[in-house]
Parts: sequence; structure tokens; C-alpha cells
Amino acid sequence: MSDYWSPDIARLQPYVPGEQPAVSDLIKLNTNESPYPPSAAVTDAIASAASDLRLYPDPRSMALRSALAEYHAVDVDQVFVGNGSDEVLAHTFRAFFQQSRPVLLPDISYSFYPVYAELFGVEIKRIPLDVDFAIDPADYVGNWGGVIFPNPNAPTGCLLPLASVEAIASQNRDCVVVVDEAYIDFGGQTAVALLDRFDNVLVVRTFSKSRALAGMRVGYAVGSPALIEGLVRVKDSFNSYPLDRLAEAAAVASVVDDAHFAQTCKRVIDNREQLVSALAALDFTCLPSSANFVFARHATQGAASLAAQLRERHIIVRYFDKPRISDYLRISIGDESECARLVAALGEILA
Ligand SMILES: *Cc1c(COP(=O)(O)O)cnc(C)c1O
Repeated sequence: MSDYWSPDIARLQPYVPGEQPAVSDLIKLNTNESPYPPSAAVTDAIASAASDLRLYPDPRSMALRSALAEYHAVDVDQVFVGNGSDEVLAHTFRAFFQQSRPVLLPDISYSFYPVYAELFGVEIKRIPLDVDFAIDPADYVGNWGGVIFPNPNAPTGCLLPLASVEAIASQNRDCVVVVDEAYIDFGGQTAVALLDRFDNVLVVRTFSKSRALAGMRVGYAVGSPALIEGLVRVKDSFNSYPLDRLAEAAAVASVVDDAHFAQTCKRVIDNREQLVSALAALDFTCLPSSANFVFARHATQGAASLAAQLRERHIIVRYFDKPRISDYLRISIGDESECARLVAALGEILA
């Protein structure tokens, strides 16, 4: 704490990201990164973009926005890009959520949202998930300053069907409804399909999970041109060159190599289904996951102790010491051998 800090910064509780320990021989299943590398075309694109580093990047990121517009069959003025979806979300809070009415979010969801709310002075109202950890659209009716939720939700992995996303959007025509689709490629239907009919919906996406580019920091939003212009206003008042040349080149190459992308998503989904069965055999119950992680609870053993014992075996998973979810481990889906080593370690611990 310093006397020099602005008073509101002194009051902040910053977000704590999952650890990135510099330990070799670690099975890292705590931050939902991809277990598989990006396409070779991505590494090639980075190498060739490296020859132009003396030049500033394109402030409008046209190459990437055009590639994404084509991918989602929308216009280029419907796409915004930023340094990771966390930055896109920050601009979203700043651009749309500083309203006189509170912004709704599920009580269990991405823990960065309340941090942004605090930073930007946005009042929030937390809506409890139902007994099955599902979002009930009926709880989101009213006159609100905005709505935000991840779909699939984090850290539960539960998917809200597109019809329910549509219900929330249509009940909230007067405010922006943000659908954070960080994990949608692992089994959900995107709300981009709603954009034709809903100019209040903003879909936020990341290259960090399904596209295996967490280290590059690329995220984006798709929405109506007016919403995108709102984000651009914030960006151009804050940091007008959002993506560096390497990140943009890498992201374009990733979008172009759709075959690699589809194949790695499928492998992760297959590994997830196998892991869910293996965990069930060890007396774990997993919430239905449409993400690249599972949220698992053991019949008798506490989650904190299981996480600690896994760590002794050099396997790290995420544990949240929070109401309603403190019995659960969030386990990112690794490759085939990481999943096998996890299951073997749990078998040993529970024996
Ligand atoms: C991982 C994650 C993000 C952040 O992704 P970055 O693009 O790496 O900043 C955003 N939202 C949710 C729900 C996430 O899990």
C-alpha cells in the first residue's frame, strides 16, 4: 500500500491468475491452455512477420478483422480485436456498463468480471445459478445496466443452450448482453447466430484456449457496428495499436488453418469424454462439461486436500475456496498421456 496511489486503486482487489510455475516435469492442468501446439502455419507466419518489427502494426488490425469477419460471415465493422479477451472485456465494461442501473452476472462465473466492475465503478448484481449450476433466463428479466456471462460458464463448464441465450437477449433489449465464449469451440453453438436480430448482443472470443495461442494474447468481439464503434472509441483513447505484428500474423494463420483447429478441438473433446468416465470410476461426479476442463467433485474426499496431494505429484489443478464450489476441482483437459497420469495419480491418492 502506498500513499501515492489513487484512492480507488488502493481499494482494489486485483484478479489473481492461475499460477505459471517454472518447474519442469509439471503436468499443468490449472489454466485451461491447449495441450496441443498451434498449427505449423502459425509459427511460420510469426517468423515472417518478424522481419517488419521496426514498423508499427496496423492500428485497425484489418488483416485479422477481415479473416474473422469471413470466418463468422459478418462484416468487418462487426469485429473488434484486442490483446486477449481480458482486454476486450475491460473495454466492454468501460464502453457499455457504466450505467445508472446494475449489471447482472451469475454468482459463479469468471472472477475477472467483479474486478473490472470495481476498477470501472460499475455496480453489479450477482444472480445465483440454480441447484444444477445452470443459468435460468427467467432470473435475468428486468431493467438492467447490462448482462454478462461466460458460455459455457467458467469454472463449471456448463453450456447454456442458444435458445436460452436468445431469451436473455430479447428480455434485455435496452442494454448490452455480453456472451463470453472463451470455451464455445468445445461443444457449444455460438451466439454470433443471434447478431442478425439482436444489435444488443456482443460475443467475446479468445485465441487462448481452443486456438492454442494463450502466449500471444489475442481476443476479439463480434457485434453490431455500433457496439464495435463503442469499443474502438475506448481503445483509441487508451492504446490505439492494440495487436502487435506477431500476434496479428499468428492469429490470421490460425483462422486460415481450419483443419488443424477442428482436429485439435476434437482431440480435446475426446480426451474430455474419456477423462469423465475415468473420473466416474474413481467416484468423482463431473458437471456436464462443454469446455476444455471438467469441474469434478469426489464422493468423500475434499477438493483442497486432493489438489494438494496432486501437487506433491507435480500435477496442478485449480481449486476455488468459494461458497458452493469448494468441493470441486477444475481440471483442464490435457493430452492423452497427461490425462492418463492424472487418473493414475488420483487412483494412488484414493487407494
Ligand atoms: C480464459 C478466459 C478469458 C481470457 O482469455 P484471454 O483471451 O487469454 O485474456 C476470458 N473469459 C473466460 C471465461 C476465460 O476463461
